[in-house]
Amino acid sequence: MNTPQPSLIVVGTVAFDAIETPFGKSDKIVGGAATYAALSASYFTPHPGIISVVGDDFPRDFLNVLSAHGVLLDGLEIRSGEKSFFWSGRYRADMNSRDTLETQLNVLAGFQPRVPEPWRRTPFLLLGNLMPSIQMAVLDQMDVRPGLVVMDTMNFWMETALTDLKNVLARVDVLTINDEEARQLSGEYALVAAARKILAMGPRYLVIKKGENGALLFHGDQVFFAPALPLEEVFDPTGAGDTFAGGFIGFLAATGDVSFENMKRAVLYGSAMASFCVEKFGTARLIHLSRNEIDDRLRQFIHLTHFDIQLED
Ligand code: AMP
Repeated sequence: MNTPQPSLIVVGTVAFDAIETPFGKSDKIVGGAATYAALSASYFTPHPGIISVVGDDFPRDFLNVLSAHGVLLDGLEIRSGEKSFFWSGRYRADMNSRDTLETQLNVLAGFQPRVPEPWRRTPFLLLGNLMPSIQMAVLDQMDVRPGLVVMDTMNFWMETALTDLKNVLARVDVLTINDEEARQLSGEYALVAAARKILAMGPRYLVIKKGENGALLFHGDQVFFAPALPLEEVFDPTGAGDTFAGGFIGFLAATGDVSFENMKRAVLYGSAMASFCVEKFGTARLIHLSRNEIDDRLRQFIHLTHFDIQLED
């Protein structure tokens, strides 16, 4: 049997998280930017491939869950005798802001990613939230520059590796960050001014995520806004940004169309995926989804916004 080729490569953490929200507290559960992004993308495109590293404390059962979603793990290194990346955070009462309580790099310190040989011509690349030097090392190993490179990052890397982060930024097509991070990166408060400065740093497109207030897509002088779906319940926002990014690029990879018009649709699909993510702790909601549920949510978006968008059957 031929080994499947990835339709899309996702770089990011595969990790353990401990989360506190005003509604409850989780034990150490599986999280990580690449975990959320790959699961989300798997609903659109058959074989997202992960590049990451875990220790041998990472549950095999969860790797089987990823495989069952079609996620390819040839690029996931498992290091024996080492511990997986661990992050813990606490959400404030508004659920939109959170404080990091602890970040243990563990196996990530000194990680040298290796893109499997057959993956080096993959047309879509998501440089998910991870050390910028690792994002760069993956980009450098591609034999052919992917048609679309999307980068996600966070304030932690702005504070600890800003120069590396800017070097990666200069080589990507799309950056996705949240509003607070856009302000931090640009030094501007107004998001339009922040976007102009960030677009001048390299990417042609910028998505600014505003949590429950939706997301903005900037391209040149054009702006598109997608609201977040008003939800009955927001249980745990962890991973929403990665889930957004995975759905966004997964949809683009599935349609093979990277025009601005199609990116607007991708923002809506990414937002729909993020809206599922926050309904349960960790990846619980993302593991059991159906394409029908996703399309139903898209219909709710259309109803909410009256967007003229074509749904696939
Ligand atoms: P999000 O809520 O989308 O920002 O993503 C949260 C996920 O990012 C969690 O599952 C964490 O494991 C992961 N994470 C937290 N801090 C970092 C970091 N500094 N680098 C990479 N991933 C991180």
